[in-house]
Amino acid sequence: MCCRTDSAPLKWSDITEYMYNRNLQHGPLNRSVPRAPAVNRLLAALPKNEYKRLLPELKTVNLVLGEVLYEPGAVIKYVYFPNDSIISLISELSERSWLEVGMVGNEGMAGLGVFMGARSSSTRALVQGRGTAMRMTSAAVRSEANRLGSLHELLHRYSHSLLAQVAQSSACNRFHLVEARLARWLLMTNDRLAAKEFPLTQEFLSTMLGVRREGVSKAAGVLQAGKLIRYSRGIITILNRQGLKAKSCHCYAIIKAETDAYLN
Ligand SMILES: [Zn+2]
Repeated sequence: MCCRTDSAPLKWSDITEYMYNRNLQHGPLNRSVPRAPAVNRLLAALPKNEYKRLLPELKTVNLVLGEVLYEPGAVIKYVYFPNDSIISLISELSERSWLEVGMVGNEGMAGLGVFMGARSSSTRALVQGRGTAMRMTSAAVRSEANRLGSLHELLHRYSHSLLAQVAQSSACNRFHLVEARLARWLLMTNDRLAAKEFPLTQEFLSTMLGVRREGVSKAAGVLQAGKLIRYSRGIITILNRQGLKAKSCHCYAIIKAETDAYLN
């Protein structure tokens, strides 16, 4: 799998600092005040009685763009069910070399390792789309999963779906053109954020796609020339979803089909 290897790449702390600063332009962190109703599709798929039983364990939290929820090797205290936020799972090969290996939005849960019996995270979990999520302690997830009810079954199915996403993305990152990968990534982000406009820097995209900034700039230029997106001052606006689908490799459809299948 390729990774970010610019001659003078940014450090991870440079990226998160920039994202935090951008976030502050939209208002300070206020974790305790939810601003969106629960729309996590995994939780919504639970039978009413099981969801009601879980409610006391679920807390709505605001996730801040650029916030790191887990570091590799760190104990997972909480799992997160995103509503309108997105969490990227990032593999770090060195201080200056990293790549997004998975994306968790309203279809899933970050901290899946807890369900699989792990206590610590194997990847960094970074908020790449600000919004809300339902947070639950790892102990509560283990306890509920041990009941072998619907949450247990859904998390099993979600595990397969996430594995399929990771496998397809890995192959995509190795073999497909940067502009096709960028189109796929933008569509996946658009699906989960339910917003056509979101902040995004070339540095961050470079990390997500594992390519140099020059490659990202060129690919974004192709999509912009085709009037599929507008990219200005760190803000991406999706202008033509159908056009983006046509430009994307088939990986987008494969990943989306896996996600929809597990929830149906
Ligand atoms: Zn692809």
